[in-house]
Amino acid sequence: MKRNVIAIVGRPNVGKSTLFNRIIGRSHSIVSEVEGVTRDRVKDSFEWKGVEYDIIDTGGFVNNSKDVMSRQINIQSSIAQEESDLILLVMDSRQDITSTDRELAQVVLKSNKPYLFVLNKVDTAKLESNKDKFYELGLKEPILVSAQSGSKVGDLLDGVSGILLIENVADKQKYDFSVAIVGTPNVGKSSFINKILNKDYAIVTDIAGTTRDSVDSNIKYYNKIIRLIDTAGLRKKTKITEKIEFYSTVRTARSIDECDVAIVMLDSAKDFGKQEQDIIRNIIDKGKGMVLAINKLDLVNNKAEAMDSYVDNMIYKYRSILNYPIIFISVKENKRVRQVLSKCLEVYNEKNKKIKTNVLNNWLSKILNQNPPPSVKGKNLKIKYVSQIRQNPPLFVFHSNFPEMFPVSYKRFLENQIRSEFGFSGVSIKISFRKK
Ligand code: GDP
Ligand code: GDP
Repeated sequence: MKRNVIAIVGRPNVGKSTLFNRIIGRSHSIVSEVEGVTRDRVKDSFEWKGVEYDIIDTGGFVNNSKDVMSRQINIQSSIAQEESDLILLVMDSRQDITSTDRELAQVVLKSNKPYLFVLNKVDTAKLESNKDKFYELGLKEPILVSAQSGSKVGDLLDGVSGILLIENVADKQKYDFSVAIVGTPNVGKSSFINKILNKDYAIVTDIAGTTRDSVDSNIKYYNKIIRLIDTAGLRKKTKITEKIEFYSTVRTARSIDECDVAIVMLDSAKDFGKQEQDIIRNIIDKGKGMVLAINKLDLVNNKAEAMDSYVDNMIYKYRSILNYPIIFISVKENKRVRQVLSKCLEVYNEKNKKIKTNVLNNWLSKILNQNPPPSVKGKNLKIKYVSQIRQNPPLFVFHSNFPEMFPVSYKRFLENQIRSEFGFSGVSIKISFRKK
């Protein structure tokens, strides 16, 4: 099999060469404090989880002095475009966004290649919040790494192998979107999968993963082909997997990474605890769609009352749950199992929705009239206009005179108003402010 090629792109000094060396695990390249030293080694290969990859440090092809920045972008982008199967776009989390970062982001977005957005030099957890300012670029959720210490570089490579695997599978078998079924043990995930796969639905195929022990299933639902992730892991459950908490946590995280929409399964007879909240936080952070399915309703007395208090308790513990569909089901009695899938389809459509700029700005002027931004430290905060620069997950950028000064409460207000006007139920939306 042909090896997949990964291209690292980014402006000088973001740490491409350091990341390259970290990934291949040897020091072929020259790392320099000085910008613009051409590296002696720019292509190499490495192995991750039993698969070999080629990797190119595109920065190494340019002998960069300041005046050839545009040439540099050209060279980097044509290598990425013509030679690679996947692009790692690297930026420096500790610096402001530069015009070169912006240009490279555009190159990557227009290339139609799969890519990962890597924010480097996140050496400590304290630096993680730096990622917020990068949202305005309209890229995917960044992976935060420290090339220097190696922190999270393994996660990055998991992301690489996940994407290339999906790409390879997708070549063979097209599907419209992917759904993961996650939750703590014994809530009924396997029963749910079996109910869906055994009855009522045309099973399109089982897709064997090439590099891992999982099997996904494609089902057809209202003219859409939905890929159900890791159905084998759920169907062929052994007694030991429940004991190996770590294993199931890893598996859950991986399913979430790969999905468009996650179904979180909960047990209506059990408490909504910390583990459940952690899973939900993970899904929201990663910008995935989410549907909450609360199972085993057949075991509950006084159903109406019990459902109300279950929902109240969830919202009390985790307020943003208000923004996601909640369905009470009984897999055992086959109640509303289908409805969970139709909600997933709705959420998927919401996640890909794009609001026209003029419609958004009409809405904005109404909102600003009702509740203008506050003054902060004597500054009159103003919002000039807003646009939705990304779908899936949606990202709204507000152009403002003092983008850094908006209080969290006002951001939350804007998000709530977007939701009440435009919907986006089941979708995590991001808001960012840009200087104008
Ligand atoms: P390139 O021009 O993009 O290839 O960047 P280099 O790999 O040459 O790195 C530029 C500078 O950033 C060097 O001084 C590196 O030591 C430093 N650097 C790279 N990665 C990290 C990191 O994760 N944390 C910190 N603090 N510095 C880093
Ligand atoms: P998983 O660990 O989340 O995959 O859960 P399973 O599907 O293995 O289910 C755990 C247990 O809950 C099994 O004994 C199922 O028969 C039972 N179960 C699943 N769904 C329901 C339901 O809707 N009602 C009831 N009463 N039991 C259920």
